[in-house]
Amino acid sequence: MKNALIFGLTGQDGAYLSNFLLKKGYNVFGTFRRTSHKCFERLDEMRTFDQVTRIKADLADPSSIQSAIRQSQPDEVYNLAAQSFVGASFQQPILTADITGLGTLRVLDALKENSPNSKFYQASSSEMFGNYSGIKDENSIFKPRSPYGAAKVFAHHITNHYREAYNIFACCGILFNHESPFRGIEFVTRRITWNLARIKFKKAEKFNLGNIYAKRDWGFAGDFVEAMWLMLQQKYPDDYVISTGESHSVEEFLTLATEYAGMGDWHDFVEIDKSIMRPTDIDELIGNSSKAQKQLGWKPKMSFKDLVRNMVEHDMEYFRLRKDMFEN
Ligand code: NAP
Repeated sequence: MKNALIFGLTGQDGAYLSNFLLKKGYNVFGTFRRTSHKCFERLDEMRTFDQVTRIKADLADPSSIQSAIRQSQPDEVYNLAAQSFVGASFQQPILTADITGLGTLRVLDALKENSPNSKFYQASSSEMFGNYSGIKDENSIFKPRSPYGAAKVFAHHITNHYREAYNIFACCGILFNHESPFRGIEFVTRRITWNLARIKFKKAEKFNLGNIYAKRDWGFAGDFVEAMWLMLQQKYPDDYVISTGESHSVEEFLTLATEYAGMGDWHDFVEIDKSIMRPTDIDELIGNSSKAQKQLGWKPKMSFKDLVRNMVEHDMEYFRLRKDMFEN
């Protein structure tokens, strides 16, 4: 039985990847941070909490990273941990550089010293590409437009460096946006479905959004974690773009979600708020994943429409169950 260690177990991708690896028969270890509140909702909802060995570690703290590696004796290490919200990176640029950028180096260096034969996956991001037009692939240049994108560029290059200099089997998945009912509620897709459900169940009357004209290549997180695993099963380490090849605007997502929620015209309850727009944004991101499709045999399965429908249904169900609890 193989051992896998996931940094960032408690996040959206950590939940899907741990479930995926458990189904493949892995012994799954995952790291979490100490918090004052419950941080395992996603694993609880997936019913995998008891099947995963949970280890306390923080990417700011090298000794906790090393002990996670020593405890888990991993065949495969997945670094999903990051300050992952682009918007927050403008307010907390130094923390973002430290965790999202340097944190990756701390993991790589701990691997080099303690477990150099472990295979390593780095969660790179389409935000590294920035704002020049065209469909992006593995050869496109990086011109990030946020502290988050810049930190991910550092993490990407340092992963490549450890592969070349120390022969670590290290791969970067350059993933375009991927969403699910487990997406954090600060991210625009979940902000939309979560707030629609709050309005439907009379917990709120309105909500605000920033740039609704931004276009992104949105896939389903459950499909994308399979690509992470496939990268580590290849003969040689490499980097791959993972995307759907379609882009849709925030406005399209909002319109479709409102339709699935049966709530009429979104203009009645959404306010456009310039104060939450980013100092610099990316107009459109769209990826070409043909290398992954050809070499890994991977392809996205869930359509954009089904993704939106699933997220709306999940959040409506969440509030419907609680409504029944309050009323019965
Ligand atoms: P997420 O839901 O925000 O999860 C991030 C994870 O990192 C959480 O488990 C979080 O723990 C952990 N973390 C944050 N700060 C940490 C620290 N100082 N030490 C240790 N762990 C820390 O993000 P996601 O959507 O699953 O994304 C997974 C990875 O892929 C991230 O690196 C993200 O930047 C990258 N990525 C995501 C997308 C996307 O569209 N989802 C696209 C490209 C790349 P807490 O639960 O305690 O906060």
